[in-house]
Amino acid sequence: MKAAVVQAFGEPLVIEERPDPEPGPGQVRIRVEACGLCHTDIHAAHGDWPVKPNPPFVPGHEGVGLVEKLGEGVTHLTVGQRVAVPWLGKACGRCEHCLSGWETLCEQQINTGYGCDGGYAEKMLAWADFAQRVPEGVTAFDAAPLTCAGVTTYKALKVADVKPTQLVAISGVGGLGHLALQYAKIAGATVAAIDVTDDKLELATELGADIVIDARKQDVGAELKRHGGAHAAIALAVNPAAFEAVNSGLRRGGKLVMVAMPAHGTIQVPIFDTVLNGTSVIGSIVGTRQDLAEVFQLHAAGRTKVIYETRPLVSVNDSIDAVLRAEIQARIVFDLGAGS
Ligand SMILES: [Zn+2]
Ligand SMILES: [Zn+2]
Repeated sequence: MKAAVVQAFGEPLVIEERPDPEPGPGQVRIRVEACGLCHTDIHAAHGDWPVKPNPPFVPGHEGVGLVEKLGEGVTHLTVGQRVAVPWLGKACGRCEHCLSGWETLCEQQINTGYGCDGGYAEKMLAWADFAQRVPEGVTAFDAAPLTCAGVTTYKALKVADVKPTQLVAISGVGGLGHLALQYAKIAGATVAAIDVTDDKLELATELGADIVIDARKQDVGAELKRHGGAHAAIALAVNPAAFEAVNSGLRRGGKLVMVAMPAHGTIQVPIFDTVLNGTSVIGSIVGTRQDLAEVFQLHAAGRTKVIYETRPLVSVNDSIDAVLRAEIQARIVFDLGAGS
């Protein structure tokens, strides 16, 4: 089977021929149909973050495909079933986080495409308990971006506890933002979408943004305040300045939810304003299995639209460059050919 491999940080990925991986106890092997390209994969390949993967490794945590082989003890999945393999590849199931509904914070977790090989491959392994069944009628290409971009933003809106009539600012309308915007609308919010390219601002309008803010020309904080200030701001743009800009547009009691992770990110949080206005700064990382099940349920019900373009896996390095040059409207999804 073919896999795109990070052999060393910062170097182009290499397409390698590898033997099919054998599922261990509790695992399944999946014939991958589609895998989205998340910005995290680029950070992984560059070794950008303090906790680093160990090359060689196969990135990809939006892998979707068909179960091909069951490891020992797997009884709830069957061969031929379509599943998605998210960032949360495995959690311990025993710690305080796992037991309190916060398995995403488990300190023993293994992350797909980071701590183990991911979906930039024709075949991959997954822990069966964490492979999410994809409902009938949801294509592998739609399911792929939902598996990280979808669940991550869906969870961020839950963390923000968004209520109908509230104003929600979505900072960055890309792979994550275009879904965040839709979840905010589903939650009943008025949505202000912020970006710096014309095509993303147009996409935001098409997807139902009530207010569109061009951060190249407009003062984000002042614009949000002009509308009363945001009850919640979801920071998805990979740029610390964008976090500060949107934080300055919160209304009293508002919440900044940090989701994007710039390679080197620190923001100034003004103490006086934060205390006086009672605002919060919260981090939100991906979502649980239940969150992903809900994301798929919404999509199966026709309530979300996933914007993507498909490319072959051999284009992996060009595709990464295109994302870094901000040329991609929403998401690239690699077509691994298992569906054809
Ligand atoms: Zn991701
Ligand atoms: Zn745990």
